Amino acid sequence: MDKLLNKFASIAVNLYPRLIQWKKETGKKIIGCFPMYIPEEIIHASGMLPITLLGSDDELTLADQYVHPYICQLVRGNFGLSLKGELDFLDGIIFSDFCLTVQMISDIWIYHKPGGFYHQLILPKNMSASHTKRYILQQFNGLKKTLEKLSGRDISESSLKKSISIYNENRKLLHRLYQVRRANPCLFRARDMATVVAAGMLMFKEEHNMLLSELLYHASKAIPLSDGKVRLILSGYLCDMPELDVLDLLEELGAVVIDDDLYVGRRYFHTLTDESINPMEALVERFVEDVPCPTKLNQKRDWADYLSDLVKEAKADGLVSVALKYCEAHQYDFPVLDTSLSQGGVPNLMIESSHRGATGQLRTRIQAFLETLGGRDGN
Ligand code: SF4
Repeated sequence: MDKLLNKFASIAVNLYPRLIQWKKETGKKIIGCFPMYIPEEIIHASGMLPITLLGSDDELTLADQYVHPYICQLVRGNFGLSLKGELDFLDGIIFSDFCLTVQMISDIWIYHKPGGFYHQLILPKNMSASHTKRYILQQFNGLKKTLEKLSGRDISESSLKKSISIYNENRKLLHRLYQVRRANPCLFRARDMATVVAAGMLMFKEEHNMLLSELLYHASKAIPLSDGKVRLILSGYLCDMPELDVLDLLEELGAVVIDDDLYVGRRYFHTLTDESINPMEALVERFVEDVPCPTKLNQKRDWADYLSDLVKEAKADGLVSVALKYCEAHQYDFPVLDTSLSQGGVPNLMIESSHRGATGQLRTRIQAFLETLGGRDGN
């Protein structure tokens, strides 16, 4: 199983040389998608490969010359990679304007890297208004038309249905893998799960599905490992790759992550697309009904309730939520989340991180929190 997990990790970490080689060999186009909420199935149905732009950990990037310092590392990292020419292999980039920072960067990006193929999805924030679904459908149809032009291929209803089915299969496999983790949490390190999910954001889902099936086969045969550790739900990194050394730190300090609410995690695959209705409308439904998110207003989907249920279902001891530094969308929700979770009896720790690694301060705060929870054996 280790060999397989290393394969996922190498796909997630050494992504660009592999993708450039893949493009040379297949002649297929690759489209970069800003996280979150791009309906990748439409790109897949056009025969092109959608990949998620997960930024970079570079401390000083070219981006610092063009944008103010107080924007999140995800946006700074992606823009820096583009300025360095490391994203030049992409055949197009799709932005979605889910937060102010992404809204701002798309114009700056296009100004400094003119001439490429760009598409901006303008998506509503209010999920409950009477015109919301109609408006999203217009946006998705606009994207479909643009992709048909770029790929030179019509996206038929049947090809879209096929892509939706492949994506749903991917989600179901990941759900199964997460169930295995809940039952045998020490089988996977938190970094393993993050790189398994991240790899799927960077390759065709058909190939990812095959790897996942293989992984599930091996995982189902593994001997249950006893833990006696503090069982955590990890939330946060709203639209970003979690810092792997922070995940390692949680484990080093005596916790085990038994489930998560990470973007490169459960948030990415949580909601299936309805295969019984019109495929474009089904993608709209999925967008509206997806997991609660601070960038969307949905009266029916409360994030604290969702997290509280996740903690209860997984029988976790507590929850750690990590927000990226300068991520206003997430941090504005912190006080509300903290109050609601605490009132509901869910021990939680809200921390900020800036992709500068597992700092001493972070270590102290996590250690103190874990001490308040105690190990499952009372350690
Ligand atoms: S939601 Fe937060 S982390 Fe994501 S792009 Fe916006 S500011 Fe950055």
